[in-house]
Amino acid sequence: MYKLIIFGAPGAGKGTQADLLAKKLDLFHFSTGNYLRELATKETQIGKKVKQILDKGELVPDDIMIEIIKEALENNNKQNGFILDGFPRTIRQAEELDKIFKSMNLHDIIVIYLNVPDEEIIKRLLLRGRSDDNEEIVRKRLSVYKETTSKVLEYYKTNNKKIVEVNGIGDIEEINNIIISKITKNYYI
Ligand code: AMP
Repeated sequence: MYKLIIFGAPGAGKGTQADLLAKKLDLFHFSTGNYLRELATKETQIGKKVKQILDKGELVPDDIMIEIIKEALENNNKQNGFILDGFPRTIRQAEELDKIFKSMNLHDIIVIYLNVPDEEIIKRLLLRGRSDDNEEIVRKRLSVYKETTSKVLEYYKTNNKKIVEVNGIGDIEEINNIIISKITKNYYI
């Protein structure tokens, strides 16, 4: 059973790679960004709140995110496993996720770190043209990544997770094959 987390800056290609991995390995792909964008289209109280946060490029509060991820993992019925995309984004989320994994008896989680340099990230985000990809929000999302989310990688390095680091620049299919070969050959950093 594959228990994967895909990690990296916004625009690193997490969604694209997670999609491919999910197809090839028959995994449950859970993207918190996709989930929240869908939630933000609803005219409910939570929908409106989430929309405001997404439009500013800020993070949705941890308590909400933890409930969302818990429910997603509990409802997953793919035998081959899952890939989390966009979660965790804070140390608290990472700590709570560890507790959830423990309570569900899930061990040997692998973190795939897609490494892409800043200049390339900015170029990609501005080209992508998603509604939260205008220049001001892009800058905000990058600063949130630098100040908060990037610390999650340090957390995982000191908490004995298996980390696979992959250069996220290049051909999509090639990057995907490298990820799969590193996972299957246990090339952890
Ligand atoms: P993404 O598609 O992963 O880039 O996520 C889009 C937006 O959704 C982010 O800029 C955040 O506002 C929000 N978001 C996604 N995942 C999380 C999370 N784990 N914690 C808080 N906010 C999140």
